[in-house]
Amino acid sequence: MKARWPAWSIRNTVLAGIVIGVVLPALGVLALDGLLSRRAQVPVVQRNRAATQLLAASVLAEPAAARGAPALDAAIAGVLAEPSVCGVEVLELTQATPAARRLDDCTAGRPLQVLEAPLRHEGRTVGRLRLSFDDRDVDQLLATRRAATVGLVALQVLFGVGVLAAVLSLRLLRPISALKRQAGRLAAHEFDPEADADPHAHVHAADGAYHDDELGELGAHLASVQGQIRALIGELEAKNAQLERLAMYDHLTGLPNRTLLRELFMHQAAGARRDGAAMALLFVDLDHFKSVNDALGHAAGDALLAEVAQRLRGALRESDHVCRMGGDEFLVLLPRVVDWEQAAATAERLAAAVVAPLRLTGSEPQRVGTSIGIALYPQDGGDFDELVRAADVAMYRSKDLGRGRHSLFHTEMDTTLRTRLDLERELADAIAHGELRMVLQPVVDARCQRVLGAEALVRWQHPRRGLLAPGVFIEVAEATGLIQPIGSWMLDAACAQLAAWRAAGREELSIAVNVSALQLHQPGFDAAVQACVQRHGVPPGALTLELTESTLLADGDGVLRAVAALRAAGVKLAIDDFGTGYSSLAAIRLVRPEVLKIDRSFVHDVPDDEDACRYAEALLGLARTLQMEVVAEGVETAAQRDWLLPRGGHRQQGYLWSRPVPPDEFDALLQRERL
Ligand code: C2E
Ligand code: CA
Ligand code: CA
Repeated sequence: MKARWPAWSIRNTVLAGIVIGVVLPALGVLALDGLLSRRAQVPVVQRNRAATQLLAASVLAEPAAARGAPALDAAIAGVLAEPSVCGVEVLELTQATPAARRLDDCTAGRPLQVLEAPLRHEGRTVGRLRLSFDDRDVDQLLATRRAATVGLVALQVLFGVGVLAAVLSLRLLRPISALKRQAGRLAAHEFDPEADADPHAHVHAADGAYHDDELGELGAHLASVQGQIRALIGELEAKNAQLERLAMYDHLTGLPNRTLLRELFMHQAAGARRDGAAMALLFVDLDHFKSVNDALGHAAGDALLAEVAQRLRGALRESDHVCRMGGDEFLVLLPRVVDWEQAAATAERLAAAVVAPLRLTGSEPQRVGTSIGIALYPQDGGDFDELVRAADVAMYRSKDLGRGRHSLFHTEMDTTLRTRLDLERELADAIAHGELRMVLQPVVDARCQRVLGAEALVRWQHPRRGLLAPGVFIEVAEATGLIQPIGSWMLDAACAQLAAWRAAGREELSIAVNVSALQLHQPGFDAAVQACVQRHGVPPGALTLELTESTLLADGDGVLRAVAALRAAGVKLAIDDFGTGYSSLAAIRLVRPEVLKIDRSFVHDVPDDEDACRYAEALLGLARTLQMEVVAEGVETAAQRDWLLPRGGHRQQGYLWSRPVPPDEFDALLQRERL
């Protein structure tokens, strides 16, 4: 492993460099100067000391020779006053003076230099002089000099450090900091042009350009690298977005592809599971697309697919998703469906949108059909792939059944749907094909057991399924609006029957026809009824129109107008199935029907069930009080008949008397004296 240097910042290193390079040499110079100047002083000091010695010898010679001790002591004190001298001794005196004189203020322990010389007076030696020198004068001298030198060096160091610090900071440290920031932004992928305009970027000169030095060059390089990286990243991002589109979207139609739809599905499925809701997946396959492609070429085929994609999208709600699986196959995800019927309705809408004629350049308008398969989540498949498979299977069933249709994966539902669709289609043609029949069920006066008239009930002689009761098709007829032509047909048949009876001398017979809400709300219904009775030359009073409570409730004003118009036309009105809907006395009061038909559910349990009896009795009482004719429906037993009879329920209709029968059988019934 490589040894690592301690992580010192450039600033600290430069500061250390300044200290080592400027302050340490200055200290060295000071030390050296102390040493050298002391050495340089030595000869001067020696010369001075020699001169002092000579001088002292000449000053002391005369007092030593002649003038006695006091004069000599005074002279010695004079010599001692010389700063460099710390001790004076006169020895070996020959005159009257005492043996030796000495004065000394030398400091103990300091190095001494001792010089000796003879004292000569007038050619003879009168004694010997010993002088002691210490370095105190030299020290003083050197100290003064040193103080000056230290001052100068300190000044020089201060100046040097100042200049160096300023230059290094301006030209090195701050540019480096700026470069550091610039590089930092580069590393952090910040390419905000605002951030580049760094007010502290001292790599830049005042005019915005880079300094004309190495760091400036480095900064300029860095800036250009930054620019290149910025451009590269922009390019990369655009490429990425493009790749993402390619990966998630179909390039021809711009629709999401299967991958994206799967993502959307998973997202939506989570929500659906949470809410316990259902989703539907529709597999849409174009019929005979290959032949368009072969006949008109691939460009036309592509244009057709793009147009189909647009139509599918346009026929869906914002929240639905459509994707192209590839080829001529599309998937549609309905994230919120109430039931399969809603999904089937959407499939129908999609098929209708696609099948509208479409003009491709250079060809006749084309019509493209679709085969659609419908699968429901979660019952037909727990995950996306399973659901796609289920929808695919259902789509193939549509192809097998002759294309241009939709199928449900769930077979039971599919049968129901298919039956219903077939029924719708066939019912639309039933009138034109003469397949409707009118049957008549007698209304009997139980007192004399004679027929008062009949209720006309519709039957459908289906080419394959035989005679169908209204329970099988009335609901479909109501939902599709086909109940209107059916109702008109029945009205006409009933009036024709009245006319036939009258022609046969049976003027007392009346006939009742059921009227649906749709008919009653149809503007001009009253006029149509009037026209019908007139056309057949029958009195309107022989005709009763049966309205249910729900029909009357539908919309107050419109109904009242229609009822008033019918009453003006002279027909009788009956309330059918009374007691099963929202029985409203207010409605009775407004409509004032002539007849009340008590529903068979009230008749069913009499006379054994007390409760049923009480209710039946109440209804009969109501009719009596309001002076309405009452017809009891669903009389099946003699016991029912006998219970009703004394309570005002003598007008009866039910299997006990007769089932609904064709008109010729009804005529046969009429021939009998009593039923
Ligand atoms: P509704 O108007 O209540 O007609 C009486 C129904 O009760 C008839 O059924 C009749 O066959 C049945 N019925 C008669 N006596 C008895 C009995 O003793 N026991 C039992 N269990 N049932 C009895 P149908 O013919 O199947 O008609 C069913 C419903 O279809 C009718 O009920 C009526 O609401 C509707 N409907 C029939 N024909 C027409 C029509 O031409 N136009 C309209 N708008 N609705 C019709
Ligand atoms: Ca009826
Ligand atoms: Ca009824």
